[in-house]
Amino acid sequence: MFSDELKKYNWEETTAQIMASTTVDVERALNSEHLTDRDFMALISPAATPYLELMAQKSRRLTEQRFGKTMQIFIPMYITNSCTNSCVYCGFNCHNKFNRVILTPEQIKAECEAIKKLGPFENLLIVTGENPAKAGTDYIEKALNVCRPYFANLTIEVMPLSTEDYERLTHSGLNGVICFQETYHRENYKKYHPAGMKSDFEWRCNGFDRMGMAGVHKIGMGVLIGLEDWRTDVTMMARHLIYLRQNYWRTKYSVNFPRMRPSESGFQPNVVMSDRELAQLTFAFRIFDPDVDISYSTRENHQFRNNMATLGVTTMSAGSKVDPGGYATYTDSLEQFTISDDTSPQKVVADLKALGREPVWKDWDRAFD
Ligand code: SF4
Repeated sequence: MFSDELKKYNWEETTAQIMASTTVDVERALNSEHLTDRDFMALISPAATPYLELMAQKSRRLTEQRFGKTMQIFIPMYITNSCTNSCVYCGFNCHNKFNRVILTPEQIKAECEAIKKLGPFENLLIVTGENPAKAGTDYIEKALNVCRPYFANLTIEVMPLSTEDYERLTHSGLNGVICFQETYHRENYKKYHPAGMKSDFEWRCNGFDRMGMAGVHKIGMGVLIGLEDWRTDVTMMARHLIYLRQNYWRTKYSVNFPRMRPSESGFQPNVVMSDRELAQLTFAFRIFDPDVDISYSTRENHQFRNNMATLGVTTMSAGSKVDPGGYATYTDSLEQFTISDDTSPQKVVADLKALGREPVWKDWDRAFD
């Protein structure tokens, strides 16, 4: 399990190694075919900032070699904001008093139909809070079965589940699972997740092993930028990705680096990552792992998403609502965070085409199951 592997790495030593990287390390990484975690650390270090243009060129070249000039498009559907966790940075945390919503199957169906009117979406991301008693595996299974006739590809972003439950959901059309570790800083993780199921670092961290063992086709990983030193956190995630690729080599992987946005919780980010740093990280990840899917959500603004669309990013959301029932059922419920890009799917697509990128609505068919 990765939580044991993670114990081999000391947080402070990793930070010090990243910050001690030199231009020699950066050039070695840029000229390597197969990069190690130390090469990745050099590419995200301050020593690499003079090489940003070279990194962008290499990232673009590798992206076009592996993915062509394409951009996968997906849309999220929040089906409940009911949550028993108390993540200090999240508007859905259980101490925040507001009306909790758990969409019924009829309401989920209405959301599917409303999304289909927005554009030819085939990749749906179903998102829930974490309330195992009221919206657990049975509820998620029902939701998948409602959505299945409408979309070719179903991904969930829900509480970490058991291997058996992941396996069970693959029979209801589940193709991918996204789970954010949020931070790999084991001690400080407790500060941000003081209570509820999410306070169990091991259970969350080892959820990726359970997904791999269950044969989930695609696993999405992410750290929340704004909690801990971002360079150290993404290095731990890169090590996690190496581990997963070695152990579950049939699985496809994606990475996300969401930058914390304002939410009803009032939590202020501890660290702020600039656009330039996010670009550097995106290039570094592409060079480190040419096959990994790199995903940007509407947390990022439209202009920045366009700027990065040809330089390493391979998946984007469009037309997103981040409140349950936001497409058809409720128009004024609480958002989990404030989105930055509320551009229509049509404009997102038109801009991608103008940049020479072909939007891909569907790359998966149930016939592959
Ligand atoms: S981040 Fe997720 S688990 Fe935490 S309070 Fe928000 S919805 Fe619940």
